[in-house]
Amino acid sequence: MKAVRYVQAGRSPEVVDLPAPTPGPGQVLLRVAGAGVCHSDLHVIDHALFPGSFTLGHENAGHIAALGEGVTGWKEGDAVAVYGPWGCGRCHHCQTSAENYCEAHASLPAMGGGLGADGGMAEYMIVPSPRLLVPLGKLDPVKAAPLSDAALTPYHAIKAALPWLVPGADVVVVGIGGLGHMAVQLLKALTPARLIACDIDDAKLAHARQLGADHTVNTRDGKRAAEEIRALVGARGADVALDFVGAQPTVDLCARVVGRASRIAVVGLGGGVLHYAANQPPYGCEVSVPYWGSRTELMEVIALAEAGRIHADVESFPLDEAVGVYQRLREGRIHGRAVLVP
Ligand code: NAD
Ligand code: ZN
Ligand code: ZN
Repeated sequence: MKAVRYVQAGRSPEVVDLPAPTPGPGQVLLRVAGAGVCHSDLHVIDHALFPGSFTLGHENAGHIAALGEGVTGWKEGDAVAVYGPWGCGRCHHCQTSAENYCEAHASLPAMGGGLGADGGMAEYMIVPSPRLLVPLGKLDPVKAAPLSDAALTPYHAIKAALPWLVPGADVVVVGIGGLGHMAVQLLKALTPARLIACDIDDAKLAHARQLGADHTVNTRDGKRAAEEIRALVGARGADVALDFVGAQPTVDLCARVVGRASRIAVVGLGGGVLHYAANQPPYGCEVSVPYWGSRTELMEVIALAEAGRIHADVESFPLDEAVGVYQRLREGRIHGRAVLVP
């Protein structure tokens, strides 16, 4: 089968031919329908985050192709999303379905398929346990693949911020790419807050407006953008800022526009540092660094998609084009989410 492999830090991934895997006891073989192309893959490709070579793709959905010995309750052909953060399955957080916060993460060989272990950018993928599968119902697995990260990650961040997102509240969303375009829809589906979408690319801002953002601000000039947002939100400041870039200018922007007793969630892995001085960010501001989401939350995200309240805007490509797709992502030339389709 064809697979897109991470080979070495700083080198382009390679499309190679591999034998299709067979599921061992307790495992499930997935026939991949779609594997989302996440900006985090660029961090994986650029830096030596995991040892060895492995198949990329941590945002996966497809159909069950075969069950390993002892696996019951599922059948061949079932449409499923793969829950991406693979924990130990036994610690307190894993038992509550929040494997994204597994206590044993430091001792695990991989953080998930495509994150140290073989992922979904291939015709087939091994899912190590059926506990990592979530049924997709009638959803198209190609369009549903991004739900498992591009939607789940902002959903987890937004759910924790719901107490702030009351009528009259303002929420700032920075970075309207794969995660951000889902965040806009999730906020519209779940909260009455007024939504100010920010990006450095006017096409992304147009996308945000199309998805229901109330205001858009181009943040290429950070100081001017902060003034523009402050003028919109007034003395109260923004109640919530969600940063899907996490670079220095965006972290700074979030700290400048939130008010007192607010919340900042830094989701993007852009390496920005949040500086603290008295009342900067303003007193009462909570800062969180959410990572991915729980399996239960993935079920909730899938339910929202099934109800037609959210959808991923997907550009699909064959596996062969993976290298070019990563380049387009790097250059900001993907609309919504790219999905590789074997
Ligand atoms: P993406 O490339 O699809 O989107 C990024 C968006 O940010 C683009 O629209 C781009 O124009 C915009 N942008 C870039 N620089 C900007 C700036 N300085 N100011 C404003 N906007 C800017 O990326 P994605 O797949 O949505 O991922 C977003 C970030 O979230 C990445 O850093 C990724 O690694 C991270 N991530 C984190 C988690 C987590 O659990 N914490 C999970 C998934 C992804
Ligand atoms: Zn990701
Ligand atoms: Zn665990």
